[in-house]
Amino acid sequence: MVNLYIKDFLNKDVEHYLRPLDSGHIRNGKTTFCAYHYLVDSNGTVKKLLSDKYIGWHCGNWEYNTKSIAICINDNLENKSPNKKVINTLKNLIRKYQYKTNISQILGHCEIKPTTTCPGKSFLGEKGWKNLLY
Ligand SMILES: [Zn+2]
Repeated sequence: MVNLYIKDFLNKDVEHYLRPLDSGHIRNGKTTFCAYHYLVDSNGTVKKLLSDKYIGWHCGNWEYNTKSIAICINDNLENKSPNKKVINTLKNLIRKYQYKTNISQILGHCEIKPTTTCPGKSFLGEKGWKNLLY
């Protein structure tokens, strides 16, 4: 992670120049890195894991890591869609950012890293649950 990060950390032309790669979470005196900004449980509750000012290490693509907010759903969605509570939570969370930043793109992990099916086989497509998030 550090090898990938350091070249961007020292690059004056990128937004995160000299921006710390740090979660702000300390455990036993050491920084704990969080991959995601949010964790949504299957009952629809949200936990904030990482401040928006920090880069989440979440999608396997550094450029996307630096310009995205990562939401992890705490459930096995390989062969099912999230329940209504989770969908509503995701919608509210995404709306908040769309309102704040005017960014409307929603991408699943598999759309950035095609070697993964995350967040599950029913995310994409005409009837995919991604459509429920807009
Ligand atoms: Zn993933």
